[in-house]
Amino acid sequence: MSKQLTKEQTVSETEESKTAQILVRISEEEREEWKKAAEKEGISMSDLIRSSVAPVVQEILYCIHPEEFRLVYPWSEFCKKCDTRLR
Ligand SMILES: [Zn+2]
Repeated sequence: MSKQLTKEQTVSETEESKTAQILVRISEEEREEWKKAAEKEGISMSDLIRSSVAPVVQEILYCIHPEEFRLVYPWSEFCKKCDTRLR
């Protein structure tokens, strides 16, 4: 019980700097599963969601492809894989 409390306190301390919140509606079953997965990883559900979503967001918003996909011109640079203009 006391161990649980310490964990929760640590989480709220690290989350103090994160002030934006989102509400995600999921089914009861999903919530139970997400909770179980977070517990298995020993992290909070927030951390589980953050760490899962962050790389997806990076991939959508920014080019993460290696240089072999680059089309380099003196005036600009493109990624052939995702058609992103890199400069
Ligand atoms: Zn790319």
